[in-house]
Amino acid sequence: MVNALWVWQTADRVLLRIEDHDRQRSRHEFEAAIVEDLDWLGFVPDGPPVRQRERGDIYSQALETLKEQRLVYACRCARPKRPPSPLAGTEVAAGDGGRYAGTCRDRGLDDTAGVGLRVRFEPSVERFVDLRHGPQEQRPSEQCGDLLIRDREGNWTYQFAVTVDDYVQGVTHVIRGDDLLASTGRQLQLARLLGRREPPLFLHHALIMKSATQKLSKSDGDTGVRDLRARGWTPAQVIARARELMEASERR
Ligand SMILES: [Zn+2]
Repeated sequence: MVNALWVWQTADRVLLRIEDHDRQRSRHEFEAAIVEDLDWLGFVPDGPPVRQRERGDIYSQALETLKEQRLVYACRCARPKRPPSPLAGTEVAAGDGGRYAGTCRDRGLDDTAGVGLRVRFEPSVERFVDLRHGPQEQRPSEQCGDLLIRDREGNWTYQFAVTVDDYVQGVTHVIRGDDLLASTGRQLQLARLLGRREPPLFLHHALIMKSATQKLSKSDGDTGVRDLRARGWTPAQVIARARELMEASERR
């Protein structure tokens, strides 16, 4: 929602993408709520929403591109358990959850039901200029190791799905919370392996807080807009309040 506020007035085109790559967790009613809230606020995306759950063919094609380069291998390891994210479910897997040691790299496992898939990350230094934080330097092979692109339940991972989508949809600007700053390098490395020549520009903003201690909780389908609307706020008041929250979060 806040991202929308940032870009809506300046962008040529704004796309709405429903990031429901995780079929076990995604809830259809959340999508309807998001679209309706945006509509009520007066934000109408250019074109119909793109749903990750409907893009399996596109992700499979991207997987083939990596397989042709012999970069993909099957992995039986369980994902490390992480504490629940304070934000949307999608971010749980996106933060820094430790480095994968490469246990299955040379085991030559078959890609059968119940195994995950990883892409080999050779050592690289990813440099980019974040539009808020300035020059960054990240080493994905040291940070996260070989990136999981499909989990053992058959879900495409967040990192893979958004990198493919940003490429295929020609996304030029990615504006998102600071919790994803550390994973930008791995998306850049993956995008290059997929064949993308010009990566998008990134801006990472402070996480928006309802108060000093309380984060907005998208996992409840809570955009924050519902409550305010029910209490009689107008769209203009909600937008003004979102700007205030954003500015206050930046100062923290
Ligand atoms: Zn493994």
